[in-house]
Amino acid sequence: MKSIASELAYFLRGRARQNLKVLALYCAFLVVMTLGYASVFRYLMLHLEGREFSFIAGIYWTLTVMTTLGFGDITFHTDPGYIFAAVVTISGVLFLLIILPFGMISLFLAPWIENRLRYKPTLSLPEGTRDHIIIFGMDPVIRSLIPKLVSHQIPFVLVTPDYAEAVRLEEEGFRVVFGRPTDAQVLRAIRADAARYIIANLTDPENVNICLTLRGFSKTPVVTLLDEAEHQELLLLAGASQVIPLKKILGRYLATRTTTQGAMAHVLDSFGKLQIAEFPVHGTPFVNLSLAQACIRQQTGLSVIGIWERGELKAASSETILGENSLVVLAGTSQQLDALEQITGEQACDDLIFILGHGRIGCAAAGFLDRKAVPFILVDRQENPHCKEHIVVEGDATGRNLLKNAGIDAGKGLIVTTNDDSTNIFLTLTGRRTNPHIRIVSRANREENVEQLYAAGADFVVSNASVGANILFNVIESKESIFLTEGINVFRCPLPPKLAGRTIAGSEIRLRSGCSVVAIEPVDGSEVLVSPEPETVLTQGMGLILIGSSRSEETFHQYFS
Ligand code: AMP
Ligand code: ZN
Repeated sequence: MKSIASELAYFLRGRARQNLKVLALYCAFLVVMTLGYASVFRYLMLHLEGREFSFIAGIYWTLTVMTTLGFGDITFHTDPGYIFAAVVTISGVLFLLIILPFGMISLFLAPWIENRLRYKPTLSLPEGTRDHIIIFGMDPVIRSLIPKLVSHQIPFVLVTPDYAEAVRLEEEGFRVVFGRPTDAQVLRAIRADAARYIIANLTDPENVNICLTLRGFSKTPVVTLLDEAEHQELLLLAGASQVIPLKKILGRYLATRTTTQGAMAHVLDSFGKLQIAEFPVHGTPFVNLSLAQACIRQQTGLSVIGIWERGELKAASSETILGENSLVVLAGTSQQLDALEQITGEQACDDLIFILGHGRIGCAAAGFLDRKAVPFILVDRQENPHCKEHIVVEGDATGRNLLKNAGIDAGKGLIVTTNDDSTNIFLTLTGRRTNPHIRIVSRANREENVEQLYAAGADFVVSNASVGANILFNVIESKESIFLTEGINVFRCPLPPKLAGRTIAGSEIRLRSGCSVVAIEPVDGSEVLVSPEPETVLTQGMGLILIGSSRSEETFHQYFS
């Protein structure tokens, strides 16, 4: 009943209401015409044929002729009468059978059907919606984040002020709200105050605006991805809980993986005293030795977590040979890393890194290398307005002989970081052909191009989207974790009570979950124990630092926590 009323109400609003007036006028015209014809009918019958009919009979005759029913019970028998009957028939066909239905369809039926079929955007979330993630700004990072949210059954909603985008995203099956993110009413309508997290992934000024608007009524944490380093303070002042300088992080990622300088240059991240570092074998006494022969553990106490091979972290055994281009991932304290540096000796700095693309990521990579005193050559086809400190070779890196003339033959590392993946694939291929021994690290702007970049000859591909998505996911899950590569994290976890009193071997952590214990943080806060022996007894209050794939990590939590 309610829906019939609402459908009828449609005809009383806006354009439909205007059209209703036109229809009323037209019907009045038809009534006048019918009455006029009825009068003429009576007059002609009386004066031509001497027959008298009532006015009702006149209307009856007119309607049967106009609608072409023509029962034939009342007919003219004179020529003027026939002519009049023909005129009435033709005008009936025209005004009653053609114009009226056409007008009804075009003015009412078609607009009504169109209105029924038109996408009606969702403008608010139901009352009682809670613990959802609100996402402003769809991009490849968010596209990589969504499968993680889905697999962890974390509800999320995408908010966009762009009608076409709202339609597109809803067609893809996402939950979408159409509205301006900086509008307080929209924020209330999407239950921002009851949300678990808000991801503000728009421009820095828009993100500032969202934070300020939200802080007027809610304390929901907001995580933002930073565009310009100088806006970090402003975003924090506006109330952002976490500001992620993704471009800077990506620049550092790219830079750490190209340089072949000593071990200390490669600390990736740390958990308190435990540091996770990458160590390039090139130029050290370990080249062509097996891990057992290299005795890294015995000499330094450092533990080998794995070895990078074309972007994949492979488990290492004592027989694994350390090749010239191997990159070993280690865990240990800074003292242990110092000890490694003592063995490998101060490296002669023969690095020369080429950075193709001096955008925000390329500039961050250059800044990182600068601090480590690694020489580099930057190439970009245009000036970076945000950077005045770096000297840049100007030109299109894909241009004929540009890289050769810049001396790429003598380069040890190549960072390919333009904003176009086709260009990156082309440059990776050119770099590999020109200098087969150069270490190439390429940036993938889109996840789907990672494979092509490896195929083109990259030693390591860093995908903006997957690094960003991993960082965001760790923030949302409040996880303390180090992202090593897609799908492999080092994470910290307090010892599950179930495991107290057991030895590491007896805990069956690796067997049950696939995770390995990298280190143990003792209860008394003393030095972390890297690569503990299988007989080590786990005690209540200890912290575990584990390494594993995302799935293993999940299994670990499900099984033990
Ligand atoms: P961003 O996305 O901020 O890291 O910027 C990417 C940078 O790559 C921009 O500064 C572009 O000018 C640069 N770039 C894109 N294509 C080329 C190319 N063919 N040669 C040199 N630089 C390029
Ligand atoms: Zn710069």
